[in-house]
Amino acid sequence: MAGVPSLSNPPEGGRYSPGHNARAPAFWVSRSVKHTITLIPGDGIGPEVTNAVVKVLETAGLQVEWEPQAAGVLAIEQSGDPLPPALLDSIARTKVALKGPVTTPVGGGFTSVNVGLRKALGLYANLRPVWNIPSVPSRYTGIDLVIVRENTEDLYSGLEHEVVPGVVESLKIITEEASERIATFAFEYARSHGRKRVTAIHKANIMKMADGLFLKSVQKIATRYPDIVCDERIVDAACMHLVMNPTQFDVLLLPNLYGDIVSDLCAGLVGGLGVVPAANLGSDIGVFEAVHGSAPDIAGRNVANPTALLLSALLMLQHIGERAMADRIMTALGNVLSEGKVRTRDLGGASGTREFADAICAALSR
Ligand code: NAD
Repeated sequence: MAGVPSLSNPPEGGRYSPGHNARAPAFWVSRSVKHTITLIPGDGIGPEVTNAVVKVLETAGLQVEWEPQAAGVLAIEQSGDPLPPALLDSIARTKVALKGPVTTPVGGGFTSVNVGLRKALGLYANLRPVWNIPSVPSRYTGIDLVIVRENTEDLYSGLEHEVVPGVVESLKIITEEASERIATFAFEYARSHGRKRVTAIHKANIMKMADGLFLKSVQKIATRYPDIVCDERIVDAACMHLVMNPTQFDVLLLPNLYGDIVSDLCAGLVGGLGVVPAANLGSDIGVFEAVHGSAPDIAGRNVANPTALLLSALLMLQHIGERAMADRIMTALGNVLSEGKVRTRDLGGASGTREFADAICAALSR
């Protein structure tokens, strides 16, 4: 599965060192080429964490021309459109974007830019590796799982209407085509990354047609991968199992909404939203962003943890063939975290976003 990135479990308790990642396919080789990458700083904490990550990438020597693009409320101010055609054109051309979070108004206002972007660019797979980064305080150790979330349909179809006053309907769209496509992605990912098991998460006992179709589609695709175990869990029980014993899971395959909710749950198992990355992948485009949102409660205060976006950027580096650089940055990040002197507040430290990025830059130069 060329170009699909992976971050996997560093040695327990130890420092991250380049090359330990036995799961990485050999075709990722570092190339010294100049990349053109769309940069969407977003809003809330987006610009702060994006600036921090850009600084680290440039310090590491990434040859890059950024194409900055506004989205959401900032884009409305500039052009009247939260998802401007110029942004979509830029990503369609560059094929790769680093994206900060974008706020979606609650209960009204414009529809989600994040959902719109994924649909418009056919970014059907949301890949979210969740593992214990050494020295990051967390409730569990030994977690090394990957969430594969369907990114284009389900209750995120945005199809809602009022039937009669006081009664509304939200349409949950599940198609065989999208379900088989995401299942194929999950099994291919599992096979090419040494993963042993794919667990389909659903609520097919209640939504017999919609989740039933998702589950049947997964089971159909699973027959083509006899080397990978396929099992299934009902979503509520899966959440309980994740909290009781998260190390039992390998690849989790979920429709859109459960994937969203379970991602935040899993982030809580390994140290919080400040440390979990994500990649939105289509057939030839990758948009890399953290799992977290715009965190308005801490925006503009230089306290956000840029690690989640930095790890997303490492997935991006792997995707564009800069694997060695990704390893070097991961080593620098691991060293700063294990030294423990410079940490953001969510990880029990007192350092700011900028200071944390500066420490990683200093570690890169050592
Ligand atoms: P959130 O993820 O922004 O924040 C949840 C909690 O985690 C907050 O307490 C926040 O302070 C903390 N947190 C998040 N990221 C952090 C970081 N990097 N460092 C330290 N702490 C961090 O979720 P929310 O508050 O529910 O959503 C805020 C907005 O973000 C909403 O408008 C939502 O729609 C949007 N959102 C956008 C994306 C995206 O752009 N992909 C994803 C999720 C949510």
